This record gives sequence, structure tokens and C-alpha cells, in this order.
Amino acid sequence: MKFLSKVVVSSMSVIAMYLLASLLVDNWQQRKKISSFPTTKSQYGTFSSTKIYPIELAERNKISQDDIYLTIKTCEKNHKTRLPLIFKTWWTGIKQQAYFFTDTDDEALTNQTDGHLIVTGCGKTHAPFELCCKMGYEYDYYYDSKKKWWCHMDDDNYVNPSLLVKALNQYNWKEPFYVGRPSREGIQYRQYKGQKVPLYFATGGAGICISRNMSELMVPWMRNGSFVQTCKDLSMPDDVTFGFIATNRLGIKLTRRNDFNSHMQNLAKVPTEELLSQVFLSYGGANVVNLTDPTFPLTEDHSRLLSYHCKKYPETEWCPKESKLR
Ligand code: UDP
Ligand code: MN
Repeated sequence: MKFLSKVVVSSMSVIAMYLLASLLVDNWQQRKKISSFPTTKSQYGTFSSTKIYPIELAERNKISQDDIYLTIKTCEKNHKTRLPLIFKTWWTGIKQQAYFFTDTDDEALTNQTDGHLIVTGCGKTHAPFELCCKMGYEYDYYYDSKKKWWCHMDDDNYVNPSLLVKALNQYNWKEPFYVGRPSREGIQYRQYKGQKVPLYFATGGAGICISRNMSELMVPWMRNGSFVQTCKDLSMPDDVTFGFIATNRLGIKLTRRNDFNSHMQNLAKVPTEELLSQVFLSYGGANVVNLTDPTFPLTEDHSRLLSYHCKKYPETEWCPKESKLR
């Protein structure tokens, strides 16, 4: 009996020691994880981090357009200059999922968007933290919408809704995905709280999407003013800070999409057939898409996106009849 109880006591202490040891190792690994933010280029993934996505899982987790919460960053000075083009073109195909974030109330816009206009109350300057304030609002609204994906775009972007859905369906929204296009290949370095940190980010002007799971990981960095604080600590605007949080603080690689385009890319170089398969396009000054046989002259279509829209959707009522035959 005495022997038996001795065996029980000693095996219990072995188990207890094992539990304690694994707890310590776990804790150590946790700590190691937190203190080892990626610092080298290879850890940043200049290439897509697309994981192998088993077909049946992809089928089960397939999303539709309604699973996306699309936010468009705009401001008062663009309400009458940039938004009319949006309302005339791609917006009609995704208006239920599209929300405009701006700095000034506009009744006409509220009516036009059926209430999808959010006036943030952030300042109107172009200061980094003001832009972050706006993106923080976009994130909060997305987060509360409980949708599976959040996509952010500028008001000089054009999006192809069905291609966006198709692109996002290559990734599992239940895993952390940060999807977009960097505007430059190299990594810049910046001081953050007295530490030199690398910055690698998807540029806001090319469209940025994150999965629900990614947004969950970002909560401590985004909610309750955390995002604006990080922008201030980094002295960087919204997209840069957002990328810093995703790739550096959380260590999630950027899933790079070459069919997300900002006006930092040379848009004129993309052949017309290839243009039709781009998810996001943009325009800026003389940098516009180059179409063979454009529907409208440049004087009537400075962004070239009206002509582009007619190539894409020739049945649109304001597109000339002959473009319907093409
Ligand atoms: N923007 C803003 N507040 C401003 C100026 C610009 O929210 O005071 C938005 C604008 O609506 C657009 C984005 O920031 O969605 C980028 O602005 P823009 O295209 O004028 O500049 P870029 O950074 O592309 O050169
Ligand atoms: Mn722009």
C-alpha cells in the first residue's frame, strides 16, 4: 500500500513537473514570437504568401460580393470632381457594399448613396494622423459589419467587382490575409519608439484588402485610438502605418497582387486586353490607361475610365451604340 502511494505521488510530481515545464516553454516561445519582429527582407515576402488552399475548403469558404465591405476614402474637395465618375461607372455594380468616408457632410451624397456616406469628424488636413483617423473609422465600420473581407480604396480608383470577388476567393478569409500592391520594391527604415524598423506596405491608392481573421489580429492596433497613436509614433500616413502593423508588428506577409494598380504604376504600358482583367485601376494627371480605339476623346474623358467602362460593359446606356458591337 505504502509502495503504491509512493508510486502515485512520484508519478503525480512527474506530471506536475512536465506541465510546469511545458508552460514555461510555451511562455518562452510566446515571448520569442513577440520579441522577434521580422527585420530582414526575406521575412517580408516581396512575393505573395498565398497558401495552398485545398479545393473542398475553398468551395466551403467561398465568398460572394455581399461578403465584402468596400470603403472609399474621399474628402470635400473631391465630392464634385472625382465622385461623379465613380457613380457613373463601377459603383453601380457594387453600391450595396460600398461606403464613402469623408470629412464634410453632403446631403446630396447621402441621398445618392442611400446613406452610405460616413462623415468622420477627423480633421481636413492631409497630415498623416488625419488620414489615419479616417482609415481608423473605415476599419471600425468594417469590423462592426462582421463581413468577411474589407477592401479600402481611394476615390481615384476604379474597381471591377466580379474580379475582386474572384481574387479574394483565392484566399481563406478565416486566415490572416493582407492583400495589395507595394508602391516600391525596396524597404524603407524608420524610427519607431527609438527603434529602427523596416516598412513594407501595400499602397492605399492601389486598393488594399484584409480578411476577417486579419482584422481580428489587428484589433489591439486599430481600435480605441491605437491606430492614430501608431501613425503619430511612426510619423507615417495611413497605408504605411497599416502595413507596418500587419507585416512588422504582427508578422503577416503581404499577399502581393499585380492586378491591383495605383497611379504610381505606368498605366499606359498595360495592354488593353490585360486592362480588362485588372482588379483595381487608377488615374493621375497624364498617367492614364492606354486603350486602343477609346470611345471618348481625352478632352471628355481625362481619366480614360469612361472609355474603359464602355469596353468592359458595352451595354451601359450612356455608351455609344457602336461600342456595343465591339
Ligand atoms: N484625401 C483625403 N483628404 C485630403 C486629401 C486627400 O482624404 O485632404 C484622399 C483622397 O480623397 C484620395 C486619397 O486621399 O482618396 C489620395 O489623394 P490624392 O489622390 O489626391 O493624392 P495621392 O496621394 O494619390 O497623390
Ligand atoms: Mn491618388
